[in-house]
Amino acid sequence: QIGDAYASCMGEAAIEKAGMTAVKPLLDKVKGVKDAPTWMAAVVELHKLGAWVVWSAQAGADYKDSKTNVTTLDSAGLGLPDRDYYVKPEFADKVDAYRAHVGKMLALAGTPTARGEAATADVLAIENELAKLTKTGVERRDVPAMYNPVDLKGLAKTAPSIDWPAYFKAVGYAPSKKLIVSSPRYFASIAALRKKFKPAQWASYFTYHAVEGLAFALPRAFDDEAFELQRALTGVEKQRERSKRCIDTTTAQLGELVGQQYAARHFSPQSKQIAGDMVDAIMKVMGEQITKLDWMTEGTRTIAQAKLAKIVKMIGYPDKWKTYAFEVTLADFAGNVLRARRFETRRGLARSGKPVDRGEWQMNSFTVNAYYEPTMNNTALPAGILQPPFFGQDRQIAANLGGIGMVIGHELTHGFDDQGAQFDADGNLKNWWQKEDKAKFDAKATCVADQYSTFEARPKQFVNGRLTLGENIADLGGVKMAFTAYRALRKDAAKIYVADGFTEDQQFFLAVGQAWCSKDRPAETQRRLTVDVHAPPRFRVYGALRNVPEFATAFSCAPGTPMRPANSCSVW
Ligand SMILES: [Zn+2]
Repeated sequence: QIGDAYASCMGEAAIEKAGMTAVKPLLDKVKGVKDAPTWMAAVVELHKLGAWVVWSAQAGADYKDSKTNVTTLDSAGLGLPDRDYYVKPEFADKVDAYRAHVGKMLALAGTPTARGEAATADVLAIENELAKLTKTGVERRDVPAMYNPVDLKGLAKTAPSIDWPAYFKAVGYAPSKKLIVSSPRYFASIAALRKKFKPAQWASYFTYHAVEGLAFALPRAFDDEAFELQRALTGVEKQRERSKRCIDTTTAQLGELVGQQYAARHFSPQSKQIAGDMVDAIMKVMGEQITKLDWMTEGTRTIAQAKLAKIVKMIGYPDKWKTYAFEVTLADFAGNVLRARRFETRRGLARSGKPVDRGEWQMNSFTVNAYYEPTMNNTALPAGILQPPFFGQDRQIAANLGGIGMVIGHELTHGFDDQGAQFDADGNLKNWWQKEDKAKFDAKATCVADQYSTFEARPKQFVNGRLTLGENIADLGGVKMAFTAYRALRKDAAKIYVADGFTEDQQFFLAVGQAWCSKDRPAETQRRLTVDVHAPPRFRVYGALRNVPEFATAFSCAPGTPMRPANSCSVW
């Protein structure tokens, strides 16, 4: 399956020859919108592929009953990275590039030249309306505001223009009895929006999204044009080699199948042991830090400790591997892509109403990343991140703790950032804070948000301290926990290792910097400042280290200099 999926992606001649064959039934549906039923049919066909036009659906743990999966309906369907691109003047050049791109994609999809300009304007007009109704990134971080439970009757009342039971049936799953709507205002507006635009205008919008999402699986001209949008939005000048992109596609389709191979070849039981010990060491430090916090009363402290103790650690790869029951054909790349997407979308939505499987992973074993999941109170460290620059079995403890140790501390702190702190030890959205402690916590978080908002990534482009707050709290806590853990591990060391003239403390901080080492083009920086809940890498390092006094000591920074500011922030 893996080999055929990859080979089908690399078979460019076969892809050219197949042309639009595999997507023709889909294109016929989306182009054929002429009334309400055909509008619905187009939405259904795209949603089956996980191509979320107008709204999206997914199933995940219920915030207030974390053992059960609920169906969540959310706003969706924008072609640009964020709603800000449509409404803020500083993105005007990106919108121009997008308009040109939409026009070319529609032409490739067979829109007659005479209709091209109007069809392009239709796509932009519909997306503009959707954007105006879409919550901002900061609004989306308000967890209780995103949690609006309804039943099917309530949903019909909120968005009466959609025959919801028919919709769910057509997509192919039964939703949970309780459904979550992220934005009632958005769904209440769908009826008016649908009437505002003519069926032919919707057909253009659906057609664009159908070909845009599948461009890589279509003839070269589509793929080249899709790259033009990437070029405009990120500044990237050269398309990556096809082989690398085919690896991405294959791993997206068959993640755990590839992950199983990766884990068997590149992850030893010894690595698992070492990583587990590091998580335990940092958890212990975090427990000690919580004990020492001077701003927290005992009532809150006891519950915080209990939550920390209940965090489940998952290391390397899942105990149980997923299977992929869809056909992969060597000469049919587009067909493979369609089948894979339908399969995965259906698998996800079929969780609706079912018990949460806490053993399921949200990342692949080869992924160089880690996560903390508040609804499960668990953290995962995939095998892929247990390598340089984060970790090496032959590296100094200081360097490993500055790398992977900092990441572990970061993930654990997520359980207690401004969002994580709203969930209890069982993953339920429930307040466990004493009122006065919560007020102090909020003030400390505001210190972090305000400080990061002063960071200027590009001229006049600042970090959004509220959008990135959770990640920044986690970065601050992560560096602090990891540093304390490293010091504890080296406390009775017989020999101190100086490397290239750097002390062990300095090696720790260098490893923190190297972990996030990267370079962005201006357009990509702008995009990330808008959509990414992480601060740009440079500011993740700068922001975290200037608030840790041990850094200033290690590098002898004078008071009042950037790395030793008069007012620093500390939460955990
Ligand atoms: Zn994070």
